[in-house]
Amino acid sequence: MPTPVVAGNWKMNTTLAEATALAAGVREGMKALRGVEVILCPPFISLAAVRDAVRGSSIKVGAQNMHFEKSGAFTGEVSAAMLQGLCDYVILGHSERRQLFGEDDGLINRKVKAAFAHGLRPILCVGETLEQRESGRAAQVVGQQVKAGLAGVHDITGLVVAYEPVWAIGTGRAATPEIAAEVMGGTIAEALRELFGAAAGQVPLLYGGSVNPGNVAGYAGQASIHGALVGGASLQAAQFVEIARATAAAKALS
Ligand code: PEP
Repeated sequence: MPTPVVAGNWKMNTTLAEATALAAGVREGMKALRGVEVILCPPFISLAAVRDAVRGSSIKVGAQNMHFEKSGAFTGEVSAAMLQGLCDYVILGHSERRQLFGEDDGLINRKVKAAFAHGLRPILCVGETLEQRESGRAAQVVGQQVKAGLAGVHDITGLVVAYEPVWAIGTGRAATPEIAAEVMGGTIAEALRELFGAAAGQVPLLYGGSVNPGNVAGYAGQASIHGALVGGASLQAAQFVEIARATAAAKALS
């Protein structure tokens, strides 16, 4: 089984001071916690401060996005080369990037390749909209996002995949653990196996979408779900630490 993973996506929240304090709070709460890889994904401007705040602990840092080119005339963008030394992970293909910033599978694929090329671990996000689910296309959409996002990738060492149904993100309407497990243990696992054979079994699969301390054990209790990508609840250190604790506990039992 892949190592359980709990990642916090802080999105466009927290000032530098707030990010530093939040990271310190998570570090404090995580002191006695083992059995789960915890990743904090603050805004770009706080990456260095959060890296420093968790230095010497097991907590890892991730970016929320990046550009696929190394450098150049791309105003406002940040490259994988610039992230080296600041973080280990990078969230790519988040549905907010897809929906609000027009990112498509081709662009996300270029970013995934650039991340691997620079030694960053991509957290590739996939997920269907409500309309796609209601019209019976969830499996097709998610399978295609996985395959297109990883096209031309040969070595998936370090890859993490997050299933985040768009209708469950920030809505309080979480997918049931059974729905999540069906997509993750079925569609996503099969797509990964088709592409990468036995190596697919090493990829942590995270559920994301309105995860909180009260519902996380339901996901972590599913064999095909190895952790969570957490948005809103990752902005409160105590809630996020509790999600990590409950994930580690559920995974220790399975
Ligand atoms: C997310 O944005 O990745 C997310 C899962 O958000 P939330 O937990 O707030 O639904």
